[in-house]
Amino acid sequence: MSDLRQTHVPPHPSQRKWGYLSSGIKILALSAIYFGTARFGLSLDAVSGFATLVWLPSGIGVAALLLFGYRLWPGLLIGAFLVNLLNGAPLLVAVGIGIGNTLESVVASYLLRRNRFSYALDHLRDVLFLVLLAMPASALISATLGVTSLLLGKVITLSSQRGFPRTYLVFPPLIWAALRFGQRGATSAIFILSILAIVGTIRGLSPFSTADPSDGLVFLQSFMGIVAVTSLILAAVMTERRELEQRKDEFISMASHELRTPLTSLQGYTELLRRNFVPQGNQDALLYLAKMSTQINKLSKLIADLLDLSKIQAGRLEFAEEAVDVDSLVREVAENLQQTTSQHHIAIEGKAQCEIMCDKDRLGQVLINLITNAIKYSPQAQRIIVHLTRTHDALTIAVQDFGIGIPKAHQEKVFERFYRVSSDQARTYPGLGIGLYIAYQIVERHKGKIWVESVEDQGSTFSFSLPFRP
Ligand code: ADP
Repeated sequence: MSDLRQTHVPPHPSQRKWGYLSSGIKILALSAIYFGTARFGLSLDAVSGFATLVWLPSGIGVAALLLFGYRLWPGLLIGAFLVNLLNGAPLLVAVGIGIGNTLESVVASYLLRRNRFSYALDHLRDVLFLVLLAMPASALISATLGVTSLLLGKVITLSSQRGFPRTYLVFPPLIWAALRFGQRGATSAIFILSILAIVGTIRGLSPFSTADPSDGLVFLQSFMGIVAVTSLILAAVMTERRELEQRKDEFISMASHELRTPLTSLQGYTELLRRNFVPQGNQDALLYLAKMSTQINKLSKLIADLLDLSKIQAGRLEFAEEAVDVDSLVREVAENLQQTTSQHHIAIEGKAQCEIMCDKDRLGQVLINLITNAIKYSPQAQRIIVHLTRTHDALTIAVQDFGIGIPKAHQEKVFERFYRVSSDQARTYPGLGIGLYIAYQIVERHKGKIWVESVEDQGSTFSFSLPFRP
């Protein structure tokens, strides 16, 4: 969908010419940078003059494709081809290595994009994906094509390739075990690894094996000592973090229960007072009571969100299931929320004309969260549009606003627990950063999807789709 459902206008011919020109310049610049950094790497240390351990261009290539788009790939091909040609490779060998290098960056950036990778590397998931899948897969392609080209061109023979320090291979599984299973995982992994390493060393199969087995075992022991300390520290940090996290969840659960009880009686007494003042016709008192009631409702929504959050964390969020008429639910929610704003008009476009099996209150809650956000984050706008669309297998509800929007870098993260956009503009709005997280969880539990499209200062469209189920 185009951003904010604007119709697509074809570019003017002069704009298109400028587009080609700017792509051309970028491609040339990229090939020059590629060429320069590659020459630098090769000047440091080269295997048969072609392969080096210092190869900046791979990283530069991936970054360029991620930032500026795949269409810059010719820059990589030209750069890599020229480097190898000038380095004395036969023409076809240079083409082969060039294609390998180009594919490496294309595949890596494709994998990273597809996985909705966060460039900041601030999530364990992103780091693991980058090091365990994207980098090895793409490097394998480049290395295979490169070495095959060199072998076919008879530039190298197989015996001239160096061995790989296998000892490093123990780190990824150990770190994974420590991160995933904490202390127990780390110690079990170290135990298994030690047995394998000792047997291997004695049998002459490990990198530590020497003519005299006891020498080898001494080396092995110091190596395993360092490995064990490293992974135990890591596991301890992880365990501590998890415990703190758990204590925080328990605190939220307790606090929200404790807050709810007095609030419920406050609500009761407010209603009682209102009933007393109505016959007296005391307009001032009624006005203040109405204001009080609004604030109490806000507070109780916050507390309800906190309670839901702790239920989600504990896996205790329960769902009822019934056939829900989508159009009337959307209308009901929109009408209720219309009462809370005199500035915005909430319009409904399209019709669902269907019933869907779901938890009515929870589905309503998703809609409420999205529409209240749309109101809150578009203080200058007058319109909010709820779009309903139905295909043969799914129903999509989109809430569009014309407000402050969300910068691209934050869009993936707004559905995370406690995440709030930290720009100067966004920071001025009150909130806890859990409404979208709850919406995400509810939609997820209904086997649906939720996503956002947004342009800063123009607005956001939050959509979710639910599959039809028998
Ligand atoms: P909050 O209580 O902070 O609104 P949410 O989980 O509902 O928590 O939203 C998380 C963050 O996403 C918000 O802090 C805000 O920065 C951003 N956000 C949510 N909805 C919108 C919107 N319609 N327009 C702009 N930003 C939004």
